[in-house]
Amino acid sequence: MVEIDLDRREVTVVRPDARRAILPYDSLVVGVGVGQSYFGHDEFAEWAPGMKTLADAMLQRQRIFSAFEMAELEDDPEARRSWLTFVVVGGGPTGVEISGQIAELARRALKNNFRHFDPAEVHVALFEGGKEILASFGDRLSAKATRALEKTGVTVHTGCVVTAVDADGVAVKGADGAVTRYPAKTTIWAAGVSASPLAKKLADASGADVDRAGRVKVERDCSLRGHPEVFVVGDMMNFDDLPGVAEVALQSGVHAAKTIRRRLDGKDAQPFKYRDLGSMAAISRRRAVVSFHGLRVAGFLGWLMWLFVHLAFLTGFKNRFKTIVSWTLSFLGTGRTERALIRIPERKRR
Ligand SMILES: Cc1cc2nc3c(=O)[nH]c(=O)nc-3n(C[C@H](O)[C@H](O)[C@H](O)COP(=O)(O)OP(=O)(O)OC[C@H]3O[C@@H](n4cnc5c(N)ncnc54)[C@H](O)[C@@H]3O)c2cc1C
Repeated sequence: MVEIDLDRREVTVVRPDARRAILPYDSLVVGVGVGQSYFGHDEFAEWAPGMKTLADAMLQRQRIFSAFEMAELEDDPEARRSWLTFVVVGGGPTGVEISGQIAELARRALKNNFRHFDPAEVHVALFEGGKEILASFGDRLSAKATRALEKTGVTVHTGCVVTAVDADGVAVKGADGAVTRYPAKTTIWAAGVSASPLAKKLADASGADVDRAGRVKVERDCSLRGHPEVFVVGDMMNFDDLPGVAEVALQSGVHAAKTIRRRLDGKDAQPFKYRDLGSMAAISRRRAVVSFHGLRVAGFLGWLMWLFVHLAFLTGFKNRFKTIVSWTLSFLGTGRTERALIRIPERKRR
């Protein structure tokens, strides 16, 4: 979808054959999500791709495994160290999870895979601009998560803003204002999101407000200001500053569908009520943090809760069964089967 004409009630889409088509609508639900935000430094994207789409995830996998291969080929110890240094920017759940996973991958799955270095030498540095990681989980869980990450081999730097990113590393401004350079061949961006251009178009056309990330502020029933027939849901919606998480997206989408059905039945729209199911982040194998209505759990119990919730929310028996088998194999053993590298258009890398 590339255009929305609110007055004519039509959307313009680009078909798979690249031609445009115009589709009329009676009701419209828009949920195109958000993109990565580099806080005005889009040039960082070249060296620090984000983690928003499946293609992004495949690219990250390729970059991470390729870095180990490059370290194996490198004779110069300093250059090898730089291939074995991974920088993750952003200490929210995504940054915490990816940091823990890289450290664990090196120390467990890749343990005996290389001749010229010990993967345990890997160094993962997590940089967070705020005073603590996982700030929304509260001080206690944040401190526990920091300790768990450090046990796994991640160095956590808080109060640090990444001010430059290039092929050879990052520059970081600390709380004291001093800028330090960290050599690293692989940087992953997990800080900040910005709404899609469609959000801005919708807001401009309707006069709706947007927040700092460009998310559209919606009415009490998730509809667009002045357009009760248009619903904005999920990550691109701002409803009472709810976070951009899957539960908000699921529940707001269901609410929009129910509202359309109510209207067809001649009933009034109901306000959207969000049921908070808590937040969780997995740090490593057997360690996760969970925050649920004042209940704070960390460690093994948190990890069991994380597993249960992620299984419960998978769709269909087949998916759940396959996941249980795959998790059992990887938790009992040390290997990882998902190692296939597919050729993705290369970004420049020296
Ligand atoms: C790495 C990562 C880990 C996460 N982990 C968790 C977690 O553990 N728990 C949790 O609750 N949340 C998590 N989230 C957040 C969660 O994924 C989002 O909140 C949720 O996916 C939002 O759903 P959505 O439908 O609004 O947007 P999306 O899931 O982003 O879906 C939007 C869809 O719209 C499509 N689209 C975009 N533009 C257009 C267009 N112009 N026309 C047509 N289609 C378009 C996109 O291709 C995409 O398929 C995570 C997010 C990331 C990136």
